[in-house]
Amino acid sequence: MVYLHIPFCKSFCTYCTFYSELFSLESVSRYEAAVKAEIRARQQEIRDTLSTPTLYIGGGTPSVLPPMVLRHLVEAVNDVTGGEYQEFTIEVNPDDVTAEFATFLKELGVTRVSMGIQSFDAQTLVWMHRRHTAEGARRAFACLREAGFENISVDLIFGLGSRHGDTRSEPGMTINADIDALLSLPGGPPEHISAYQLSIEEGSALYEQVRQGRYAECSDEEAERQYLMVCTRLREAGYEHYEISNFARDARAVHNSAYWSGEPYVGLGPAAHSYDGQRRSWNPADTEAYIRYWQGDPAEAPGSEILTPEQRAMERVMLSLRTSDGIPETELRRLCGDARIDALLARSHLEKSRKNANLRIPEQYGFISDAIISDLV
Ligand code: SF4
Repeated sequence: MVYLHIPFCKSFCTYCTFYSELFSLESVSRYEAAVKAEIRARQQEIRDTLSTPTLYIGGGTPSVLPPMVLRHLVEAVNDVTGGEYQEFTIEVNPDDVTAEFATFLKELGVTRVSMGIQSFDAQTLVWMHRRHTAEGARRAFACLREAGFENISVDLIFGLGSRHGDTRSEPGMTINADIDALLSLPGGPPEHISAYQLSIEEGSALYEQVRQGRYAECSDEEAERQYLMVCTRLREAGYEHYEISNFARDARAVHNSAYWSGEPYVGLGPAAHSYDGQRRSWNPADTEAYIRYWQGDPAEAPGSEILTPEQRAMERVMLSLRTSDGIPETELRRLCGDARIDALLARSHLEKSRKNANLRIPEQYGFISDAIISDLV
């Protein structure tokens, strides 16, 4: 299970705090050499994670890379893994997707494309500083379908607040129109949808807008109403709500599901994290520092920590309760104690799954799952 981080974007979105740099060909070639050095040095670690044979290329914006660079990086990973994946995902920006690029991805062996659309509302896309338009997203989706992709995931954002100069008649209805647009994408609705609440994180342009009074955050009540609307509409459209933010039509994400099950993974590239079942490590969130390390400067070494049995138990609780599969009741009682479980069951913040003997958070309380989980850990 390999993750490769591409730390480049062509512009920065209003809400974003992911680690990324402005794309430049000069840094890309030095970055490529560093990633190849990391792959060579970590061959055994990579092989040790292949019980889940997946490759996930995320970012940043992987689709800004020149196709030749992308090909060289994938070939370098394939040399170690053998290149046979149960799932091979790449994240793309609609603005980068042409018929030619979609065909290239297919030939590269990509089986699943994750496209950040976020909204179909023209004003919202401009305000978010997204590079694409709604029409561009539809066109990109059609290109992927025509290239033969039958597993496409789309990201959406809900819970938008009100901003200075906003002329939308009912800002809260944007998400409803977005779902209509999603379900009528050319070539059939996406197999997978990730719906995230817009959050305001320090370091983002949005954080500055809030500080300057140019953006007012959506209330929790409104965000929850929108979350429940997303859940209902997607359930009616045949999607399984299998993780707090994720919905699938017979297409659960294999790679991400393995994260939530606590399986080991190797993260390559700047800011990427790795986990071997006991030890967590992370590369510096700084491309130049990452390159220096793989050029031989030991001062920029990755950070790492060994998780204690208690930390591992708490991670298990946090990750499994994000999923609709939940966690076996006996295990949760052993890890968290009967009193806390019984209290949450009495408040209906936990329920028994009908499928198995597991406990999980009911869908109607998914919006407050962080608070429920923090009662346990
Ligand atoms: S949201 Fe994605 S595309 Fe936008 S700045 Fe962040 S990493 Fe780049």
